[in-house]
Amino acid sequence: MTPQEKKIYGLIGLPVRHSLSPAMHNAAFAHLKIDAEYRLFELRPEELEDFLSSLSQNRIFGLNVTVPYKEAVLGHLQWLAPEAESIGAVNTIVVKDKDHLEGWNTDGIGFHRHLTDDLRYDPAGKRAAILGAGGAAKAVADQLARRKAKSITLYDADKERSSKLTDKLNREFPECKAHAAGSINGLGLKGQDLLINATPIGMKEADPCLIEKGMLHSGLLVYDLIYNPAETKLLALAKEAGARTANGLGMLLYQGALSFEHWTDKAAPIAIMKEALEEGVKKICSQK
Ligand code: NAP
Repeated sequence: MTPQEKKIYGLIGLPVRHSLSPAMHNAAFAHLKIDAEYRLFELRPEELEDFLSSLSQNRIFGLNVTVPYKEAVLGHLQWLAPEAESIGAVNTIVVKDKDHLEGWNTDGIGFHRHLTDDLRYDPAGKRAAILGAGGAAKAVADQLARRKAKSITLYDADKERSSKLTDKLNREFPECKAHAAGSINGLGLKGQDLLINATPIGMKEADPCLIEKGMLHSGLLVYDLIYNPAETKLLALAKEAGARTANGLGMLLYQGALSFEHWTDKAAPIAIMKEALEEGVKKICSQK
């Protein structure tokens, strides 16, 4: 293959500069000797349509999609995987041919794979509380309900968003009781098994911790979808309270691995991708 024939993959979003996905995917391509490169495409909303209609001519064979385009791409796809349809958002596009784009959502399955494969935590029968009801929360809640969690209680600053999500969960998964809390206290953490932060609160140093220490207990698994910083204020507090903790690096790894498999039909080299991510995190930390 000449350099011009190299296959291109990448991430679209706004912003995307901070992303660790190029490190992870390029390490996987190099390891499997696939002549491909993963790039970042920071797009303004008015650029999205043209970009998606010229993928084949730009040798782009697959994309990841992040904020704010996970829903906006839906209207440009010819086929949707059932979980993407159910969540109403896409984080992975496979270019089958010029006129056929497939949409997948690997966020929820990636989260579940980290939970079960690495943390050995089975959500079946568990009571889960989720902070946030945006794109990531929808994917995580969908997986928890599918995997037979006993209940899901959600709190989002936008009450309409959390009610919409809990209504949908109750409709689709009646055995899992979903409830929209009116406040963080309303999450009733003392009676929960799992707490997930699916808001961006905790990414910036100045961010508050949404939870008070007295709300936590040692029976909880506290999972923060944020991976930078590796230990948010929430995770530090959870550790002090004796709870198990996990950050979002494992979810990032497995959602990426699943995207890679959709694009290449090859088993993702998980250990190589994980090492690249860990190196990336170290680099970011040393720049702070
Ligand atoms: P999003 O669609 O913007 O959703 C975030 C939600 O949190 C919004 O509904 C937002 O409401 C709500 N929120 C913000 N501040 C809040 C507060 N103080 N109390 C309650 N709710 C609040 O973002 P997203 O795509 O779901 O991403 C959420 C987080 O997950 C980000 O940190 C992202 O980096 C992370 N993530 C990680 C992975 C991974 O692989 N580890 C994958 C996806 C996402 P408003 O819109 O009203 O502010």
